[in-house]
Amino acid sequence: DPAPQVRPVDAPRAADLDKAALRGAHKFAHGHAVVVSGGVGQGGASRLAARAALRIGAGLVTLACPPAALIENAARLDAIMLRSVRDAEALTQMLDDPRITALCIGPGLGLTRARPLVAAVLARGVPAVLDADALSVWVDEPAALFAALHPGCVLTPHLGEFARLFPDLADLLAAPASSGPAFSKLDAARAASRRAGCVVLLKGADTVIAAPDGQARIHSASGAQAAPWLATAGAGDVLAGLIAGLLARGKPPLEAASMAVWLHAASARAFGPGLTADDLSDALPGVLRALT
Ligand code: AMP
Ligand code: MG
Repeated sequence: DPAPQVRPVDAPRAADLDKAALRGAHKFAHGHAVVVSGGVGQGGASRLAARAALRIGAGLVTLACPPAALIENAARLDAIMLRSVRDAEALTQMLDDPRITALCIGPGLGLTRARPLVAAVLARGVPAVLDADALSVWVDEPAALFAALHPGCVLTPHLGEFARLFPDLADLLAAPASSGPAFSKLDAARAASRRAGCVVLLKGADTVIAAPDGQARIHSASGAQAAPWLATAGAGDVLAGLIAGLLARGKPPLEAASMAVWLHAASARAFGPGLTADDLSDALPGVLRALT
């Protein structure tokens, strides 16, 4: 059989993103993404993710947060629906809705009580993005996470989060075995993806996306794809939301991750100097228009 493909992250095709392809469709035809948030004062990151999921075209986006954070979030969201969810059991009940098509957990989650919430998200079985705190709470027991992951998942660690989940691979990256060949970010993401059994997107100035079957996509920090303005707080939370929105619209995990990485960087280039994370979702419509 053919060698597993390694390709650059390509520009998405407008036809794959534009709602005109489903003209006449009800909002539910474009999917419903749920972003699971943490407690009071932690919600900014999850709001960034939720807005990005809506902008990339999910038909509906709901932010699920603890009761104490409801007012804070309600004061800052309009088009995004809000649900108060006390604990993992309540989250499981809330997620028991067949119209929910993707989940996002990690941005703004916090480290307390995160594990049962992540477990509830994974048990639901629909495509899910795990980022930030959802990746960091397994540091003493990564195998518990790997056992719960399914092929619809996308993990989006930066190098620090990657090292907490895959310490042996991070060690190899830092100092490859002196006898063996060099160990690249591509090798690390591929090995991690095989272990996790799902797509792993290893972030940084260069981003590598790997699938368990060996397929990989590389987004370079240099040349036409450079987007140095993304080195700013909250940029990763926006990326997680973009992936969740594309998963909600039915894109397969590797494709959703690749499209999101390209659109994220293109939005940063469209805005340019002075970018903050909340500008990314506002720059996205211009990027989408330029694709058509
Ligand atoms: P996080 O570390 O979770 O905030 O995510 C940061 C996001 O910005 C990721 O999508 C990175 O790939 C991206 N990023 C950070 N620094 C750069 C850079 N110098 N050039 C391009 N992308 C970057
Ligand atoms: Mg992050």
